[in-house]
Amino acid sequence: MSGALAMTWATFPADAVTVVGATQDDASSPEVRWTRCAVCGSLLFWRRLGRDTVDIAFGTIDHPGDLVPSNPIWTSHRVARFMLDPELPEFPERGA
Ligand SMILES: [Zn+2]
Repeated sequence: MSGALAMTWATFPADAVTVVGATQDDASSPEVRWTRCAVCGSLLFWRRLGRDTVDIAFGTIDHPGDLVPSNPIWTSHRVARFMLDPELPEFPERGA
C-alpha cells in the first residue's frame, strides 16, 4: 500500500488517538481503512474495522525515537541485509 521497502507502525488504542487536520480514507478491503493527509497524501495510519487499535505510520510521529520497537512482523518478506534488532522476537507472518 505504501510502496516502501519496509513500513514501521506504532499501534495505539483507538480511543487514545486524536486526529487534527484534514484526512482522507481509502478502503483496501471491506474491513480495512487507510488514512492519508488530505493535503499532501502522506500515509498516516490504518485500522481494521472492529478492532480497538490504530496503527500509525512511524515516520509521522513527532518523536519516533521515544518509542521502543517490540515485534517485527512479516519478516518472511524481509529483504536480505535489512537488519533488525536481534534482541527482538521475529514473527515471519502476522504478529502474536
Ligand atoms: Zn500532509
